[in-house]
Amino acid sequence: MKEFDLIRWIAERTPAGDGVVTGIGDDCAVLDLPGDACIVVTTDMLLEGTHFRSGDSPEEIGYKAVAVSLSDVAAMGCRSLHAFLAVGLPEGFAPAFATRLLEGALRAARRFGVSLAGGDTTASSAGLCICSTLIGAPPSGRQPVLRSGAAVGEAVMVTGRLGGSLAGRHLRFVPRQDEALELVARCAVGAMIDLSDGLSSDARHLAAQSGVRLRLFEDRIPVSDEVAAGNPLQAALNDGEDFELLFTVSPGVAHELQRTGLAGTMVTVIGEVVAGAPGVILVGRGGDEAELAAGGYEHFAG
Ligand code: ADP
Ligand code: MG
Repeated sequence: MKEFDLIRWIAERTPAGDGVVTGIGDDCAVLDLPGDACIVVTTDMLLEGTHFRSGDSPEEIGYKAVAVSLSDVAAMGCRSLHAFLAVGLPEGFAPAFATRLLEGALRAARRFGVSLAGGDTTASSAGLCICSTLIGAPPSGRQPVLRSGAAVGEAVMVTGRLGGSLAGRHLRFVPRQDEALELVARCAVGAMIDLSDGLSSDARHLAAQSGVRLRLFEDRIPVSDEVAAGNPLQAALNDGEDFELLFTVSPGVAHELQRTGLAGTMVTVIGEVVAGAPGVILVGRGGDEAELAAGGYEHFAG
């Protein structure tokens, strides 16, 4: 069973309703509050061996734990407000290891004005485990941006550059909250997702949830300088952990955003939303078109 088959299985048994506006399947859940307000909530677990190595710096691991959740809240066009942090510490851990881990988490929280409001601390017999939960909210008068809102005719854009995250950026990336908040303040956004698994996989999630096709142009995909060797396009499509934002806006707005950037970060038009069976098409440099297979990170091989 693959990761997304299991998530689908869970989602089928837990429909939205009773104040759950958007349940399983987006970057965050959207929950109704009394009055017209809502909050968004996300939780992410990082495990030794899967998301970081035992030799990685504890500050960077703590930072990454909060930063991945910040990225999910940004992908909703929302601001992160409060964090909860659960840690499972390996037996015999050094006290300085734990404090450095928390220092890294607090650095990410402080950088984005987030308060650490609680958590849990346990011993782990299976390596370090750290799980962050973040609560955020849209700017006043706005609604969260979902994966499902892309409309035919919109342009597809991405922040920053893709690929090569394993060179170290996956531990040190800056979540795109400032960019997301400037984006929703400046224009209407059709759909948005953050690139955690890799463009080829995450673009498919956005396409599937919006019921549209995305046509992406190979020669427009911005590749990171950190792509060291091999095929740069494959790295940009499949490496994962870019934590950039993929979103759709009207073509006129897209042109203006590409000219100005967002919060000092470059944004690039990489494709367009077209009608047809949900999926992603990659248009090659020679104009050839092929369905783009999901080649990003997948937790269960079987
Ligand atoms: P992201 O990469 O944005 O963090 P995921 O791919 O991890 O998102 O998860 C996709 C969706 O599935 C999210 O809405 C998440 O809350 C939900 N989800 C993942 N695992 C579980 C689970 N074990 N139980 C309930 N919901 C889950
Ligand atoms: Mg996400």
